[in-house]
Amino acid sequence: AKALGRGSFQIYADHLAEDFNRRTQLESALRQAIDLDELYLEYQPRFRADNGQITGIEALLRWRSERFGQIAPDEFIPIAEESGQIVPLGRWVLDRALTEFSACMHRLPPDITLSINLSPRQIQSSDLDEDILLAMRLHNMPGERLDLEITETFIVEDYVDCERFMQRLTAHGVTFSLDDFGTGYSNLVSLSNLPLAALKIDKSFVRDLADRSNHLAIVEAIIQLGHNLDMRVVAEGVEDEQQLACLQQLHCDETQGYYHARPQAMQSLCERFSQADV
Ligand code: C2E
Ligand code: CA
Ligand code: CA
Ligand code: CA
Repeated sequence: AKALGRGSFQIYADHLAEDFNRRTQLESALRQAIDLDELYLEYQPRFRADNGQITGIEALLRWRSERFGQIAPDEFIPIAEESGQIVPLGRWVLDRALTEFSACMHRLPPDITLSINLSPRQIQSSDLDEDILLAMRLHNMPGERLDLEITETFIVEDYVDCERFMQRLTAHGVTFSLDDFGTGYSNLVSLSNLPLAALKIDKSFVRDLADRSNHLAIVEAIIQLGHNLDMRVVAEGVEDEQQLACLQQLHCDETQGYYHARPQAMQSLCERFSQADV
């Protein structure tokens, strides 16, 4: 910092202060987001890699703030996690996603699942499993139709609680997928003991599939590992035909990404994949 001189240090300090201010302001705006009706969901479909059939849709939270405009989840989710607001936000997501999905479910192909992302903090709130089971009953949602996406952090933070939580829900037919696989530091033995139905390969590996031979090797190894452990393997962030072709060749089970479909309103997905008037 010395070499930068006083002026540069001042600029750096100002930046830090600005970041801090924005965070604080977003945090307080987020507290009112539910009441002000600023949140909504988009859904991104997943497809079988071999025949292109839709297999499921993932709910993704969106926030359009009156004061700050559209804020990306990568910015507001970490703030919500740190402030604990992810707990009420997560309940909102669950309720809204089940409401929208169950309204559309009968028009979609019969085995399509709804995936919901869970943060580690949510499982630490004592009754997440009860909340989920209650929401399923309320919306007449069979457990087989619900998939929960968790990350390695989720598991690492409290393995015993996590295992109990997963077992309680899998007993009702709910499945679990491990999100962002490859970016964490999980213990593979622990992972293999959990009831995981799928591994999702993080999009950072998919992006450079063609240009970086180490990423190709990693993706190939993840697919092998998943299959050897009887899990499905899903690649996220598929943006072009070459990536898809490569994943097909490696026998990846499912793909998701802008190449197939962007996240969108339930209404538009429902129209695109509706079975009613085929
Ligand atoms: P994620 O669960 O890994 O979701 C995948 C992200 O990749 C989404 O970003 C999605 O819009 C984006 N994506 C999909 N296809 C492509 C593609 O082809 N290329 C690229 N570059 N990106 C693609 P999004 O919606 O901005 O969400 C970011 C993260 O925020 C999510 O990552 C998830 O960790 C978190 N998140 C979103 N909604 C929720 C939620 O309801 N609850 C929790 N706990 N976290 C959420
Ligand atoms: Ca996800
Ligand atoms: Ca991811
Ligand atoms: Ca993520």
